[in-house]
Amino acid sequence: MDFSFTEEQNLLRESVRRRMDALATPDYCRRMDEEQSYPYELYDAWVEMGLLQMPFPEEYGGLGGNAIDITIVAEELGRKSFDLFTAYSNCVFCGLNVARKGSEAQRAWWIPRILSGEVKMSVSMSEPDAGSDVGAMRTSARRDGDHWVISGQKLWATGAGAKNNVINVYAKTDLQANYRKGISLFLVDNDTPGLKLRKLDMLGRRGVGTYEIFFDDVRVPADRLVGGENGGWDCVLSGLQVERMTIAAGYCGNLEAILDLALAYAKERRQFGRPIGTFQAIAHMLADMQTEVEAAKLLTWRAAWMLASGKDALREITMAKLFASEAQVKLVNQGMQIMGAYGYSMEYDMQRYFRDARASTIGAGTSQMQRNLIANLMGLKVQ
Ligand SMILES: Cc1cc2nc3c(=O)[nH]c(=O)nc-3n(C[C@H](O)[C@H](O)[C@H](O)COP(=O)(O)OP(=O)(O)OC[C@H]3O[C@@H](n4cnc5c(N)ncnc54)[C@H](O)[C@@H]3O)c2cc1C
Repeated sequence: MDFSFTEEQNLLRESVRRRMDALATPDYCRRMDEEQSYPYELYDAWVEMGLLQMPFPEEYGGLGGNAIDITIVAEELGRKSFDLFTAYSNCVFCGLNVARKGSEAQRAWWIPRILSGEVKMSVSMSEPDAGSDVGAMRTSARRDGDHWVISGQKLWATGAGAKNNVINVYAKTDLQANYRKGISLFLVDNDTPGLKLRKLDMLGRRGVGTYEIFFDDVRVPADRLVGGENGGWDCVLSGLQVERMTIAAGYCGNLEAILDLALAYAKERRQFGRPIGTFQAIAHMLADMQTEVEAAKLLTWRAAWMLASGKDALREITMAKLFASEAQVKLVNQGMQIMGAYGYSMEYDMQRYFRDARASTIGAGTSQMQRNLIANLMGLKVQ
């Protein structure tokens, strides 16, 4: 068993960390949250550093990075802010979908534009009545000559309002088909006539933000359909493993930030004439936190290693997503306890971590849905 990263992977981590330390400063991340602003400057830096290109195959102008490389980048971005990380991850997931499921012409058109930062992408599946139960979606698309016409309403689309954003919209194209079978994927510019966006007022992740989207007979050319008519669910499944693993890695990075802040505080803050970290109650909490961070990272790294080795890792990835997201919620709670009133104050970052982390057991599949999947993979027939 070998738990080490290669020299190139260590260099990748160091260089991303160095640049992000310089650019994604605590002030920058705080402003992003307070002003609810999208991190355009950082996005440009990721393009310039080759981070957008990194996970794409070389034949499409990418750098051919594997699952472990993506994990490293995700950890380093999540370490700064999970909100920030979603700007990167969304675009990479959608772009990789085009690389896997798009036609040659679609790849040739979209991938260079994604890699150069000219277009950003977001994903929109959820609806008011279709959350965990994605197949219950009602937004539909009907063919009209050489166009598709989309009508309906979507909810919670992360980053959909960013400039030059192309929303990856899942819509029903066969209303008679059984459940998930009649869904298709469309690439829709967020300024297409008939499309309206509303940024939602959420507890956390307020920079990149989540959006409600209304589609009132939105016309998109036929070549915006990816993966074939009724091929939407295949698109979802084709990227599921790498997406969940990357998200778990983003949580792991954020876990480190939470622990770093709580630990530094416990070493500095003095009560009863000594640092609070010397009280066993606090020290044990920090020891537990450190253990959870390591466990989350090991689950995630193992899953990444399996994916990079071409193995099916659905069970391991699902466990990593479940464990890391629940650890995040647990750790921010403990971090806030360790920091006392300072942790609860808007002047310190723990409250932002707290607000951003709370969504982790809900978004990208709730904890309950992860447990359902793990149990089903164990041979149980869970509903
Ligand atoms: C910050 C944030 C960002 C998001 N970004 C996006 C995005 O970019 N694009 C997008 O399409 N969506 C996005 N979502 C939506 C997300 O995918 C959904 O919130 C998630 O799938 C859950 O759906 P729901 O919120 O409707 O909850 P529901 O599905 O209504 O679930 C409510 C509760 O019931 C439980 N439950 C439901 N079904 C079962 C079951 N079968 N067994 C056990 N328990 C069950 C759930 O676990 C949960 O506890 C985002 C959500 C958040 C919070």
